[in-house]
Amino acid sequence: MPAIDGSLDNHIYGGYHSEAIERLLGSGWAALPVIILAAHPDDEVLGAGGLLKYLKDVRIIHITDGAPKKMKPGSLGFSSSKEYSLARRAELASALRLLPGGNFETIELGIPDLEATFNLPFIARESASLFKKIRPAVVFTHPYEGGHPDHDSAAFAARAAIKLLEEEGAGAPGLLEFTSYHSRAGRMVTSEFLPGRDSVKFILSEGERLLKKEMIEAFITQRGALKVFSTDYERFRRAPFYDFNSPPHEGKLFYENFKWGVSGKLWRRCASRALKELKLNKLTIKKTDRLNASPVQKSVSNAFDFLLAAIERIFL
Ligand SMILES: [Zn+2]
Repeated sequence: MPAIDGSLDNHIYGGYHSEAIERLLGSGWAALPVIILAAHPDDEVLGAGGLLKYLKDVRIIHITDGAPKKMKPGSLGFSSSKEYSLARRAELASALRLLPGGNFETIELGIPDLEATFNLPFIARESASLFKKIRPAVVFTHPYEGGHPDHDSAAFAARAAIKLLEEEGAGAPGLLEFTSYHSRAGRMVTSEFLPGRDSVKFILSEGERLLKKEMIEAFITQRGALKVFSTDYERFRRAPFYDFNSPPHEGKLFYENFKWGVSGKLWRRCASRALKELKLNKLTIKKTDRLNASPVQKSVSNAFDFLLAAIERIFL
């Protein structure tokens, strides 16, 4: 099937669809910001570094500061957890400086690395209040896939925040997901979603690929770990309505391979308690996530839908 811009080759190898990007940033639509709700500094670049280049007003909310609560002095080459978190923050700033123009405000909720699970109601409420204040058209976040407990907590917080706004009758943004990592048949899978749901794949152009690579290289403290992430393509999809009381997949979750202090069972217990505390027991009931969106939010959301649909027409 020919691409919307008339060239299938250009489309596959040429990166983000130019017509869709133009529509997304066209008059009126660029006025509304996009939020990226990420667990750690670097998740936004791994998941959406190629796309970031095209977005003019991005607010990146980090749930954690990327540093564990307790660090032995000298571990990872830092004297304290604070020093490590500041280094990670500086790396993020260097990565974002590589992007042309645009407004990239970063907001940190200040939870230590690996502690999001124990702060779900706080993160959900803070996210809801930021969504309300910033009024984004779309929020991008992690999928619920058992890769990292903080990632799953971001997926929880984004959906819970939207639900809280809907219950208030306030405008709610569309919710999309970028990829992270998870376990499949005992192996780590990066830059892909768990199978079973539609997603769209953007093959990055040479320029987008080089920029993304350069941004990833800015995260010097994470250098070894980030080698396994693709700079060839990016995938996105609409966030499913998860049942956070059930595991994301059968078998051992990726983070259960490590002594990170969180098992899947413990995470789900915390999620279930958080749902009760937030009075969102019916969170998993399927309902459109843009029911109360404002007309402008709807139009930007539609532009994102167009972006996804443009690619779906070619790849699916
Ligand atoms: Zn992460």
